[in-house]
Amino acid sequence: MNEITDKTYCLETISKKQIYINKEQADKIKQTLLTGNTKYITVEGQFLSVGTIDGIYEAEYAQRVEKKRLGEWECSFGQWHSKGQECGHALAKRYD
Ligand SMILES: [Zn+2]
Repeated sequence: MNEITDKTYCLETISKKQIYINKEQADKIKQTLLTGNTKYITVEGQFLSVGTIDGIYEAEYAQRVEKKRLGEWECSFGQWHSKGQECGHALAKRYD
């Protein structure tokens, strides 16, 4: 996800489906959920039962959780490595 986006929040369902949304959407959905009298909502074209919603997270947090779920890991240099990949950052020349 390198493109600029305003979708800085992520709605995650219990079945781990992730729908990225913007702050306005997040606020509206939170309000709707808090009133407790709606059983279904449509988010980004997806029709959801509110009972299947696990939570609304900040996108950066949700992405970290998703990477870890895929087996990726973050080394002490702050870089992500795929599952089973060794970190070579300690050997790399640094120019900072
Ligand atoms: Zn590394």
